[in-house]
Amino acid sequence: MSYQNTLDYAQQQDAKDPLFGMRDQFHIPKDQNGNDWLYFTGNSLGLQPKATQKYIQQELDDWAKYGVEGHFEAKNPWMPYHELLTESMAKIVGATPLEVVIMNTLTTNLHLLMVSFYRPTKTKYKIVIESDAFPSDRYAVQSQLKFHGFDAHESLIEWKPRQGEELLRLEDLETIVEEQGDAIALLLIGGVNYYTGQSLNLQRIAEIGHAKNCMVGIDLAHGAGNICPDLHNSGVDFAAWCTYKYLNSGPGSLGGLFVHKKHAHNKDLPRFSGWWNHNKETRFNMRQPFDVMPGAEGWQLSNPPILSMAAIKASLDMFNEIGMEVLREKSEKLTGYFEFLIHEMNSDDLKIITPSNPKERGCQLSIQVKNADKSLHVKLTERHVITDWREPDVIRCAPVPMYNSFEDVYRMVAILQKCL
Ligand SMILES: *Cc1c(COP(=O)(O)O)cnc(C)c1O
Repeated sequence: MSYQNTLDYAQQQDAKDPLFGMRDQFHIPKDQNGNDWLYFTGNSLGLQPKATQKYIQQELDDWAKYGVEGHFEAKNPWMPYHELLTESMAKIVGATPLEVVIMNTLTTNLHLLMVSFYRPTKTKYKIVIESDAFPSDRYAVQSQLKFHGFDAHESLIEWKPRQGEELLRLEDLETIVEEQGDAIALLLIGGVNYYTGQSLNLQRIAEIGHAKNCMVGIDLAHGAGNICPDLHNSGVDFAAWCTYKYLNSGPGSLGGLFVHKKHAHNKDLPRFSGWWNHNKETRFNMRQPFDVMPGAEGWQLSNPPILSMAAIKASLDMFNEIGMEVLREKSEKLTGYFEFLIHEMNSDDLKIITPSNPKERGCQLSIQVKNADKSLHVKLTERHVITDWREPDVIRCAPVPMYNSFEDVYRMVAILQKCL
């Protein structure tokens, strides 16, 4: 790509961008003068699609109109409502519909999946995570270890970047598993690391784990709606993600869960159950012995919150209409432009720690700022540039292809330069 460091150029790119109109379909927060904020935290909470209100209103109206009969009479009957989401969600993460369900929230789903896929024995019980794993994942894994009676410190193996490096190397994971695999029960890895933005090759991780009979689980919180993870073909055993980051479904909305097809019909897998993973056909006979459903639906417990699902449907319908390939194509250009402008600043104080290879990252760039403290983040925020600060010295910025523009990126970098 031959980018140019001018506002004119950025505006020309926006004019040529087939997705530029999508921006109008979102509520972009504005300053007192009515100017759009420069919003770069779609990796933390995606913006609200204007359509979301209508989707939720539909369910409120049907609840008012039908009460309990809405389970069958609503325009989108609530009983099978989650099924309306499955196909689009599966497409986004590269899975088959049998392998995916929307339910609960991310950390809850990780626990439910570990109930089935973390089955430690006296000798094979350790868990591998990235040293920079998201805290919730670390706490979840530590509590699972303790729950099974293991020492959380001794039993947790951290896959670390090498001395002086920020990024993970697959060959180091390979070494860990080769050397200690007989004692490892599970690899639980962030598919896209929340801190560095590094996107890992899931197929390689699955191969490395499976070579020593370890289960392989992936946290896709920063991958779903950002990269094309091709979950089914990667061969990983399970995955979970949230939908409020790149998938724009609103604060605390429900998460997604993937269980690979190879486990879909294994009714003997230990799991926690409720009425919602019982066979749909006989669920309401109420007195039947438990009969688990095949596939990812076989991990559900409860009847789901329809209002949250309506917001997810609003978002997934947009993703479905555009397609991940088109979004990825813009995303690579937009993040490439961001990277180009940061390099143009020629500052010794700034270092992008995210990989420069577009195949090894999504849209986020994590920028390490020498000698900076959080006051830089405060200055940016005062100027309505919304980024995310991670101690000690990293700004994370995610230009999201669905609603961020080349002009956003240009203006953001100009303000960053002033603040420095
Ligand atoms: C955002 C995020 C979470 C948040 O978990 P919730 O259960 O949705 O609160 C967990 N793990 C990772 C890797 C995340 O990025």
